[in-house]
Amino acid sequence: MICDFHTHSYFSGDSSELPSKMLDTAIEKGMKSICFTDHQDFDYNYDAFDFTLDYERYFSELSILRDEYASRINILIGVETGLEPHLSERLKDFVGKKPYDFVIGSTHLINGADPWCPEYFAEYGEKRGFEKYFEYALQSINVCSDFDVYGHLDYIVRYAPNKDKYFSYAEFADVIDEILKKLIFAGKGIELNTGGIYKGMDRPNPAPEIIRRYRELGGEIITVGSDAHTADKIGMGFSEAEKILKNAGFEYYTIFSGRKPQFIKL
Ligand SMILES: [Zn+2]
Ligand SMILES: [Zn+2]
Repeated sequence: MICDFHTHSYFSGDSSELPSKMLDTAIEKGMKSICFTDHQDFDYNYDAFDFTLDYERYFSELSILRDEYASRINILIGVETGLEPHLSERLKDFVGKKPYDFVIGSTHLINGADPWCPEYFAEYGEKRGFEKYFEYALQSINVCSDFDVYGHLDYIVRYAPNKDKYFSYAEFADVIDEILKKLIFAGKGIELNTGGIYKGMDRPNPAPEIIRRYRELGGEIITVGSDAHTADKIGMGFSEAEKILKNAGFEYYTIFSGRKPQFIKL
């Protein structure tokens, strides 16, 4: 698997990596395509980060690099948007401003609360904290429509005090199935995000059983991304990802260009 469809550079509030370093490393690792998916999260109310994407500079810098690197690697310009129910119109307007190749819609905040901050699980505990996340994700995808794949579906477990130790798909199957069915019905995909593999969980986001369930329900569109915020993480966990996809019954994974899916044999 030689296409990484979830990466961040210094255009994201939580990365300081040079796009050119991402590209040089991706080429060294044998990647054929890389899609930058820098963050845009509206209404992020914590001082630690600013997730406002300077999309004009983003497009102009990456377009220059795309031409410069054209003979060595295929560069796609995507974005990872933070979904919340009240943002549907703002997100549509934002995504419409530039010709993105690929748009990931992710849930990073639950009613404005960032589960990355320990206060979230201190207040709700793990079970209720997970449940609130999935419920909010469902509310968001019920109204936000301008994205191609839903990002790292069980992302919340990365920040739980015990990570995924006490998490199981079965416990939240009702709401997770509803999310998956809604995405399939809307013609959208999910991603296999290998970030979890190097964030202390030995498995991607979402869990392999959720990926299998998505396939069982008829889901076909699945992209693969490392969620690298530094160049060294590009393509990390991809051989594991390939096995998980095959075990789940996938014969193809997906890449995007100009918001259109292309299917690549595994
Ligand atoms: Zn994300
Ligand atoms: Zn990301």
